[in-house]
Amino acid sequence: MNAPTAPNAPVTPELVSRARAAARTSGRGVYAELETLSGLEPRAFVQALAALLRFEVIETATMLEMRPANELLPLARALTRHCALLHGPGESLVAVIPDPFDIELQDWIAAVARAPVRLNLALRSDIQAYLTKLESSARAMDAVQLSLISEAEGTEGGEQISIQRIHEDESEAVKIVNSTLYDAIRDGASDIHLRSAREGMVIKHRIDGVLGSAGPVFQREVSTRIISRLKVMAGLDIAEHRVPQDGKLKVNALGRAVDVRVSIMPTIHGEDAVLRILDKRSIIPADGVLRLSVLGFEPDVLSSLRKLVNLPYGMLLVTGPTGSGKTTTLYAAISETNTGRENFLTIEDPVEYELQGVAQIPVNEAQGLTFERGLRSILRHDPDRIMVGEIRDKETAEMAVQAALTGHLVLATVHANNAYDVFNRFTYLGIDMYALTSALNGILAQRLLRTVCAHCATEHQPDDTELRELGLTRRDLAGRVLRRGTGCGDCRATGYKGRRAIVEILALDDTLRRMIAEKQPIAEIKERARAKGIRFLRDAALELAFQGETTLEEVARVTLQA
Ligand SMILES: [Zn+2]
Repeated sequence: MNAPTAPNAPVTPELVSRARAAARTSGRGVYAELETLSGLEPRAFVQALAALLRFEVIETATMLEMRPANELLPLARALTRHCALLHGPGESLVAVIPDPFDIELQDWIAAVARAPVRLNLALRSDIQAYLTKLESSARAMDAVQLSLISEAEGTEGGEQISIQRIHEDESEAVKIVNSTLYDAIRDGASDIHLRSAREGMVIKHRIDGVLGSAGPVFQREVSTRIISRLKVMAGLDIAEHRVPQDGKLKVNALGRAVDVRVSIMPTIHGEDAVLRILDKRSIIPADGVLRLSVLGFEPDVLSSLRKLVNLPYGMLLVTGPTGSGKTTTLYAAISETNTGRENFLTIEDPVEYELQGVAQIPVNEAQGLTFERGLRSILRHDPDRIMVGEIRDKETAEMAVQAALTGHLVLATVHANNAYDVFNRFTYLGIDMYALTSALNGILAQRLLRTVCAHCATEHQPDDTELRELGLTRRDLAGRVLRRGTGCGDCRATGYKGRRAIVEILALDDTLRRMIAEKQPIAEIKERARAKGIRFLRDAALELAFQGETTLEEVARVTLQA
């Protein structure tokens, strides 16, 4: 390790010695101090550190190609020690460690291996991603065994199968709640699910629209304290365990205040909590101005959308499942068109983002302020433009149509699978199709697709099943390069990082209006729309896959019901 180092190397023995000195007073560890001192990004830092120490760096994809030495280092122990042991070429063993300054771990792993090991260095997050992938395949096999154990031990026996014993004092629950919230906000999660189970509690985050990354299972006692802690923070009744409760809390994390909606629900195993994170950061772009142009829409989509939101009156409906970015699109449309010369009012549940110069009314069901009553009072306030957060009942639907027919511009979201499904939805609500089509300027259907993680992306040849599912042939793929992520520390082993919106805009013309009002078959309406050059959601999604931006799997997940 005394090998000469290039003078401009980012990590030098001199820097290591400064890091050691800093670590003695800060208690942060040499690795962390050195990383800070180097000023490098995590991946670049690992490379530089490995170069200095003559270690090899290994990433998730390479680890996954090797055979794990589970017989020497069982997964549960690898998870607690944040390391991995793999079979190398021949008889050799490769140990993967996150911190070369942790000598104790190196000794431990050598003892476990009972043979010489070659030490490789990896990002802690890459090791975590690798273990997560290993765990999810192991869990499928273990699921049966685990349920048998807990069955045999009865309901009281649940505690014994919790993997790690945790300090049971109050501060432990506080620590878990805080770290869960912190992680969720840092990772851009939209929801946190805390589900009481027979064995305790499972914590999951919804990130990029997908629920995943199951947290540890805590003991029953700790999970009860976690729920109590959340109730205290959200100003709810701690003594009440039998009825659902809703509240709100505010946390300060990563230098900003974030609102969190808390909803507690009693279940057979205790109480569940679902936290909705209303992080403005996930809506507002870096420069603080929300415009349609920052949402990444194609130019033709952008211009037809702009045309629709700039019409003086009529209705624009935005549709898509929960978490498809409908509200963000509406907010962008409003902030772009709001000139201040018109009276703009909204009724929303909840108000997720404050719009300059717009009067926003939050729905408050508990106090009787529903969408219907809110919209009724808005209409008495002489509005020019109105946004209805969601149309979900007959009265609101009727009022919105009426408002659009009487010279107002109405923007609203409606929960439906696609643009054509919206007509079924309104028919179901008992709205006259002639009135609806006269009021309606257009419908925008939206989805968010997860994009392939740039770090672990590889070329991917789809198999026949995958193609069949999407109705594609080999010929459709000719000359295209499809990609998918193998999973790494950057993408929490999912292979995806970030999302992109795809939209389908059905702008109505007189022919389409007549066809819809006369309830002609959807297939014919679609035919007419296609002839008009309207691009369907599926086509927009496939286009992204063909550009290597997303996977066919994701296209199927997101658009098969569209
Ligand atoms: Zn990745």
